[in-house]
Amino acid sequence: MNARIIDRIILSTRTSDGAGVKLRRSLGSQAALRLDPFLLFDEFGTDNPEDYIAGFPPHPHRGFETVTYMIDGHMRHEDHLGHVGELKSGGVQWMTAGRGIIHSEMPQQDRGRMRGFQLWINLPARDKMQPARYRDVPASEIPVVELQGGGQLKVIAGRLALDGETVVGALNAEPGSMTTDPLYVDVTLTAGAAVGLPVAAGHNAFVYPFEGDVVIAGERVPQFTAAVLSDGDVVTVRAGATGARFVLIAGRPLNEPVVQYGPFVMNTREEIEQAVADFRAGRLAA
Ligand code: FE
Repeated sequence: MNARIIDRIILSTRTSDGAGVKLRRSLGSQAALRLDPFLLFDEFGTDNPEDYIAGFPPHPHRGFETVTYMIDGHMRHEDHLGHVGELKSGGVQWMTAGRGIIHSEMPQQDRGRMRGFQLWINLPARDKMQPARYRDVPASEIPVVELQGGGQLKVIAGRLALDGETVVGALNAEPGSMTTDPLYVDVTLTAGAAVGLPVAAGHNAFVYPFEGDVVIAGERVPQFTAAVLSDGDVVTVRAGATGARFVLIAGRPLNEPVVQYGPFVMNTREEIEQAVADFRAGRLAA
C-alpha cells in the first residue's frame, strides 16, 4: 500500500456566479488551480435565501460534464430541449453537456438552507461533441455504508473496496464506463475517527472538508479547503476533535490541452471560436 499525502492546498475564495449565488470556489478559481480532469469545484452553503434565491438563469455549456450534488435544498433544472429535473436533498444530477446545452438551475425554496457542490469534469476530445445527456439520481439510489470506526460514507460515483467488500456507486458503476473513471465519495466521521479510502494509483484526487476539519498524513486540512493528494493507492483521513464531513473526488487525468472560455471547454482556440459562433447563431446543440 502506498499512502497518499498532501501535495498542495487550494484555499477556497468567495465569489458569486449565475444571477448572484454566493459560492466558495477552490479548484478552478484560476486556470493554474485545475486538477486534470477536474476543471472547477464550487461549494454553495448558506441559510440566507438572499445568497441563493436568484439562482442560475439560462446559460450555455459545451465540452465537459457538470455534477451537482445537493446536500440540502431543492433546485429545478430545465434545458432548452425540454428536459426537467428536480434536484432534492441528497440527490445528484450528472449532466454531460457534450456539444451543447442551454439550461437553468433555479431554487425551488424561498427560505431555509441550501447547500451542495458543483464539480466540472472535462471530457476527452473524442467525447466533447456527443449529444447532451443527463443522469438524475435521487438520494434513495446512493449507497450508504456505516463505517466501523464511526461515521458513514455515501458512494456517488465509482467503486470503493472497504473492509473486504466493494461498494458500488450510483454512477460510474462499471470501471471504464467513463473515460475519466470518477470516484466521488461523501464521508462523515465522528470525532477522532479515521478511515482508509482506496484511490486508484495514477488518478488525481482531492479531499474537501465541508464540516469540521481533517488530518491527512499528519497535516491538517481546514474546513472549505481542497487538499490535492500525491499519487498512491490509499488515503487515510482522520476527523478533528469536532468530527468532520468531507468529499473525496478522484479521476483519471486526460492529459489533453485545455482551452476554456467561460462555460465552453475545448482543446483548441479554433474550437472555442466555433462554440461562441454556434451559441450566437442558436445552434450550440443543433
Ligand atoms: Fe450550468
